[in-house]
Amino acid sequence: MAAQRSKRACCYLRPAQSGCQRVIRTNLRYHRPDSLAAASDLLWSHRQDIAVLGGGTHLLPRMTRDQESVSHIVDLKALGLDGVNISANGVSIGSRVTYDQVLRHDALTRILPLLARVSHGVTGGRQVRNIGTLGGSACFAMPGSDMPGALVGLRSRFRIHGPTGFREVDSTDFFTSAFVNALEPGEFLHSFDILDIPTATGYHKIKHSAGSWPIATATAALWEGQRLEITLGGVQETPVRIDVTKVADQPEEFAAAIDAAITEPWDDVLAPGSYRRRVAAAAAKRALSELRRRVA
Ligand SMILES: Cc1cc2nc3c(=O)[nH]c(=O)nc-3n(C[C@H](O)[C@H](O)[C@H](O)COP(=O)(O)OP(=O)(O)OC[C@H]3O[C@@H](n4cnc5c(N)ncnc54)[C@H](O)[C@@H]3O)c2cc1C
Repeated sequence: MAAQRSKRACCYLRPAQSGCQRVIRTNLRYHRPDSLAAASDLLWSHRQDIAVLGGGTHLLPRMTRDQESVSHIVDLKALGLDGVNISANGVSIGSRVTYDQVLRHDALTRILPLLARVSHGVTGGRQVRNIGTLGGSACFAMPGSDMPGALVGLRSRFRIHGPTGFREVDSTDFFTSAFVNALEPGEFLHSFDILDIPTATGYHKIKHSAGSWPIATATAALWEGQRLEITLGGVQETPVRIDVTKVADQPEEFAAAIDAAITEPWDDVLAPGSYRRRVAAAAAKRALSELRRRVA
């Protein structure tokens, strides 16, 4: 697992070698199962050599660059995972819901404006927003992606389907390390459940330029009982959630709490860990300011 992770981590942002042909060079079998059980059966049977296809915006470029190679692709399109269900119990979002679907779903954006805020800020233009899925972003578990931190910031729970049926994991446990998630062989991400709705949220990300990947993201969430949380993304391998209720009005203590929560800063070609650590408090402060503007 560690070897696979480091290969992913170092290759992801590196341009393809010159002379590399941009084609998938393995014989590929495409599967579109029509039941959850059939999908898990396929994933289990070919567990060494299969990948789930979401929108393919991470997976397919990686395959054409020879950074990932499988013989089987399983498309979950026929499983009805592209819906949003809002009820008295909370919100359930299918793993195949795209950024664009979030943006066009009025009730969802009213209840969870954070998701629209984050989806709107995903770069790559309409193409990526049209086909990139929330589940694909979560499963890829890239430290600098927007969605992992936002989903942890919303205290979401992930519904996973596998050979023995469903299980649930908390979002904080789903992201186990950079580019690694909690899915076991035969499992796929079914949906996200957000059972508690925050009173207000704010979001801020720091990046080098309009089109670049985030260096640090911060999600601010105010919960019933006035508990205030900041969730940082991009600064460590996995998102970090911090209770800032007692320090939110004290700038120095607030910055110190953010700094103390970053125990192992994340390094990649975009920024060293020391830089990410340095900008984290600024991102958090701006996310908190946005939240406060919404409350006022
Ligand atoms: C030009 C460009 C700009 C981008 N800008 C940003 C940005 O600003 N911020 C940001 O956060 N992201 C950005 N992205 C990344 C984008 O968010 C992701 O590419 C997208 O959300 C991934 O979703 P997908 O459905 O395409 O994933 P896929 O590529 O289909 O899948 C990604 C990984 O997850 C696995 N997977 C997918 N769905 C499931 C599932 N249901 N169960 C189990 N495993 C699954 C796949 O096997 C694969 O390993 C950008 C991408 C591009 C190409």
